[in-house]
Amino acid sequence: MEDVRREALRWALMNAIKHRGKASEKAVLGKLVAELPGWRSKIDELLGIVEQVVSEVNTLPHEEQLFQLRKVGPVEQPKPEERRGLPDLPGAEKYPTIITRFAPNPNGPLHIGHIRAALLSHEYARRYKGKFILRFEDTNPENVLLEMYELIKRDLRWLGLSWDEEYIQSDRLEIYYGYAEQLLREGKAYVCTCKVEKFRELRDSGEPCPCRELPAEEQLGRWGRMLAGGFEAGAVVVRIKTDLGHPNPAVRDWPALRIVTKLHPRVGERYWVWPLYNFSVAIDDHEMGITHIIRGKEHEVNEQRQRALYDHLGWEYPTAVQYGRLAMPSVALSKTQTMRAIRRGELAGYDDVRLATIAALHRRGFVPEAIKQLILDIGPTPVDASLSWETLYAYNRKFADELANRYFFVANPVKLLVRKAPELGEARIRLHPSRKEAGERILQLAKEGDALVFYLSREDAATLDEGDIFRLKDLMNVELISKGEPLEAEFHSLEVANVPKIHWVSASAVEVEVIKPDNTKEQGLAEPAVAGLRVGDIVQFERYGFVRIEAVKPKLVSVYGHR
Ligand code: GLU
Repeated sequence: MEDVRREALRWALMNAIKHRGKASEKAVLGKLVAELPGWRSKIDELLGIVEQVVSEVNTLPHEEQLFQLRKVGPVEQPKPEERRGLPDLPGAEKYPTIITRFAPNPNGPLHIGHIRAALLSHEYARRYKGKFILRFEDTNPENVLLEMYELIKRDLRWLGLSWDEEYIQSDRLEIYYGYAEQLLREGKAYVCTCKVEKFRELRDSGEPCPCRELPAEEQLGRWGRMLAGGFEAGAVVVRIKTDLGHPNPAVRDWPALRIVTKLHPRVGERYWVWPLYNFSVAIDDHEMGITHIIRGKEHEVNEQRQRALYDHLGWEYPTAVQYGRLAMPSVALSKTQTMRAIRRGELAGYDDVRLATIAALHRRGFVPEAIKQLILDIGPTPVDASLSWETLYAYNRKFADELANRYFFVANPVKLLVRKAPELGEARIRLHPSRKEAGERILQLAKEGDALVFYLSREDAATLDEGDIFRLKDLMNVELISKGEPLEAEFHSLEVANVPKIHWVSASAVEVEVIKPDNTKEQGLAEPAVAGLRVGDIVQFERYGFVRIEAVKPKLVSVYGHR
């Protein structure tokens, strides 16, 4: 731990010296993650250390930073290609072209956990100038939602992913049937009509069920009957023969195809014999020439099942990269749980702001590059990791900070009258503190008789006491005279002083609704320049947070991201 702190200190000092005394948490975190891959699974903890170290370093004067750096010793600047990034793909040299795939089930919206497979697979394919395939795995008619095919593609595009080929498994049943028949003919699979309990009993004791031993003609006859609709759903499954002594009974003679009578939302009543996941995935990975399967380690047992099929067919199994779980506190809803909550009306939809779906993060104004960077920094580590909202916010802040223009906004406004002010017509403030080219906004001041009229947020107003001097940000200092409604104050001075700075709006303020992360709504007033914003703009309401504009008519509605 001390070593990590020391490394963090080194990077923070280096970064601060390079950037006028101010180190960036994001930059330091990025360096550390690259340098200490073992910490990828503890990124929250790492962020905590970085935050602390950076805030300490940033308070030091320049000379002290230089002195400290001499003490801890500067770090070598790694070469650009080593600086950050994913470990090499194992076995990449074995294949002329790297081919990866993302294979979502179109049964619910993608969330931050799902896209790890997508981002890693895509990134590796691009890095090795290979091919990235998108494949919808929709062979369970009971668990397919028609709108998900498009929604998933929209989310992937938004994340900046492009795919070279796209497949839908429900278009490929004839291929799976062909292999099923071959396997039955070759005695590598059988059509099992045993009751499930009976089969399990035998399987668990390593015994073959009576169907297993039937000759190939009998198997093919049963298969024909299955395809012709001669069996009830649940009465029959095709099983792949495996070693009956396999240590894990769940791998023994696993089911490959079954009958489902529910109509498939996409292909309707055309088929009733449907492959199960392990069968269709294994065949497709081979058929599509996948060289690397990048997926969560929860698929470990599935992989063992799939390997048995590869052995039967004389195929070489792709190189598997298994990453650990990525837990997201408070939003760990599975697709099925999410869909259930939506159906019950507990959530408003796939993009309900309480979710960590990609659609919800999009709505909240997250920058896709930030999400991508975070997931790639965690990489394919096999260690289980957990991710907090704070880490997501920290990554996003770096990107959003740079692109978001600033505006004044006051939530739950209260009125303030300021008397005895000199003749001030307006305030001109930069739209972005460092991007000068973004231009300026103008805040005109409203008058009521001899007083200037302002609105402050109720929360800010509550912190003030009569007699307090505070600064109306970028304008002037005033002294609070009365804490009634409206608040009353008198002009104090112009120059920046060491007093609380409070955001305000005045003339032509625009009503804005903000949808907060708990899906409650907050009303407020923003400065007039927000009237020019468009849907999709990401801006910062100063000291309040980043928001994304969701609607401009009939009222300006924004969705809150984070501070
Ligand atoms: N459709 C599977 C899933 O979404 C793919 C898993 C895999 O084989 O990578 O879990």
